[in-house]
Amino acid sequence: MKNKAWTLASFPTGWVSEENFRLVEAAAPQPKEGEVLVKNLWLSLDPYMRGRMSEQKSYVKGVEIGEIMTGQTVGEVVESKDPAFRPGEKVLTGLGWQLYGCAKGAELNKLPEGRAPLSYYLGCLGMPGMTAYFGLNEIGQPKKGETVVVSAASGAVGSVVGQLAKIAGCRAVGIAGGKAKCDYVVKELGFDACVDYKAGNLYRDLKAACPKGVDVDFENVGGETLDAVLRLMNPFSRIVVCGLISDYNATEPYALKTFRSILVNRIKVQGMIVFDWKDRYGEALKALGGHLATGRLKYRESVLEGIESAPRGLIGLLKGENFGKQLVKLA
Ligand code: NDP
Repeated sequence: MKNKAWTLASFPTGWVSEENFRLVEAAAPQPKEGEVLVKNLWLSLDPYMRGRMSEQKSYVKGVEIGEIMTGQTVGEVVESKDPAFRPGEKVLTGLGWQLYGCAKGAELNKLPEGRAPLSYYLGCLGMPGMTAYFGLNEIGQPKKGETVVVSAASGAVGSVVGQLAKIAGCRAVGIAGGKAKCDYVVKELGFDACVDYKAGNLYRDLKAACPKGVDVDFENVGGETLDAVLRLMNPFSRIVVCGLISDYNATEPYALKTFRSILVNRIKVQGMIVFDWKDRYGEALKALGGHLATGRLKYRESVLEGIESAPRGLIGLLKGENFGKQLVKLA
């Protein structure tokens, strides 16, 4: 069995390029006592990976030069030296951008087969789904009749946020890039409205879509998007600072112009990192799995084929070329 793995070749300055990665080929590793050899079937590509390609201090350690790029995968057990795992079982791993890898049993989560497509455990039933569930419910605390705005609305996190807001009885308004994504958000996902920020009138269009102002902003983008939303926030509203993707490749961070709105409207602003709720993932999985089973939660994937396409996929994701959860199918 031959392994192929993408390592970090250099730290990007500004935009990521394919030269920042190096494809390394070697024999698949052998599991030691207590370890499991996994063949990866699906690799998740996520915006946080840009942050790991940096020496800047963050909430977790970054990838070092020469290390395998970090990432979650869904894989199949090939060989096990941990009695708790058997060949053929499907697992959620942190093995990163490679075809095969070894992990200790404690680092793997077994996945049930037949309940949902396995790839969903990297998306609406995985980390992005958990982010939407806990960020909206615990920090956003939406109440029936309120208006919830979410940016990157057609994506892995945003699509779930808006649908959960609808289930909670709120008006759900998305912000997304382009007509196709906005149409999908309204017609397929059931949001009340979606504003195309690329049309050039974000503030005006958002104001029209939020006649009663904004009570919860689930912020995935930051920058000019956040500036526009801040102007529409209601007194005692909440902002869930989940992501600032418009800044991830910027060499100079965007300087907000409407920060004053937080003061005059007494807005509660809280950053979130999904791991803080890891002890409660089971609760979110049950709720999201239930909504999926009853058809109340819809979900879309953007799939690239083959490990070779991973760098291209991450670059595309950071530019908004994905339409739904970005994955790489490995086998
Ligand atoms: P998505 O599937 O939403 O993909 C990223 C999307 O971001 C793109 O499709 C694009 O959509 C949008 N985007 C990219 N650049 C810009 C820009 N300059 N301006 C506006 N929109 C842009 O990714 P995820 O759902 O995985 O992640 C969404 C956000 O959530 C990210 O900021 C991510 O970092 C954050 N996140 C945070 C977590 C946490 O624990 N705090 C956990 C998981 C995700 P469009 O074409 O509509 O612009």
